[in-house]
Amino acid sequence: MNLDFETNYNIYMEHQRKLTEGNPYADFAIHPGKYYEHPFRIFGNLWYVGNKTVCCHLLDTGDGLLLFDSAAYEQAPLLIQAIWEAGFNPADVRWMIHAHAHVDHIGGAMLFSDMFGTKQYLGAPDAKMMREHPGKTFIYDSHFDFTQPYHVDVEINDGDALTFGNTTIHFVLVPGHTEGCLCSFFDVTDGTQTKRVGYFGGYGFITLDKDYLTYCGDSELKMRQTFMSSLKKVRNEPVDILIGNHPIDNDTLGKHAYMQEHPGENPFIDSTAFQRKMDDVAKRLQKLLDEN
Ligand SMILES: [Zn+2]
Repeated sequence: MNLDFETNYNIYMEHQRKLTEGNPYADFAIHPGKYYEHPFRIFGNLWYVGNKTVCCHLLDTGDGLLLFDSAAYEQAPLLIQAIWEAGFNPADVRWMIHAHAHVDHIGGAMLFSDMFGTKQYLGAPDAKMMREHPGKTFIYDSHFDFTQPYHVDVEINDGDALTFGNTTIHFVLVPGHTEGCLCSFFDVTDGTQTKRVGYFGGYGFITLDKDYLTYCGDSELKMRQTFMSSLKKVRNEPVDILIGNHPIDNDTLGKHAYMQEHPGENPFIDSTAFQRKMDDVAKRLQKLLDEN
């Protein structure tokens, strides 16, 4: 093919138009660096290594690093940089747990497995979803063209307790946002102080949409009621620190800014935050249930 300059230029412009027009993720994919957030210690051996839009949390287990979630594929460089900047080596990430298998959270999975042999953990129903209905991860309609389903080494079931280094994580399946959404509970330590972390792995109602649920075979919209049961199932767990799936869930970035302005104070430590969050989501969900 020997195209003249003008034809080449027009092909390029058409390609750019297709990439960006009406694509809310274009900026996100083309300028991932704009979404970088400096990593920071939440408490003791728990760090925030996510970006401005998607959370990732790093746990130093004393015998290797554990990552909760890996953001979007295009954000993997941000995650790698954040781990280094926090003072760790990404190659030491032995385990990766994804709270649910949507495209904006699983993008770094394959990279970490390929490069560092990181072992992948996912809720069993989401592992099945990724195998049998990869479209439900939103891989195909989110403009994240190169994200792929990845190999899951360990499928997590309701009530599982798994040990990673010095930390045992208790898992509760909380179907709603996805069928295999995970809620994780574990202790973190700072010197002699121990705090219990609660991580509810997905709040969005996008997957409770009538058309979406009907497409999934749930024309009676039972998943909405299931989501409500999930919130109630974990509501009374004792939790000192609530971490988010997206920073907006617990005002991660606002709390970080507060910590920088008020050295010695830690707004993440709040023994009612988890319960308040469950109640707030339940209230909004009840409104959705009442509308139908
Ligand atoms: Zn999601």
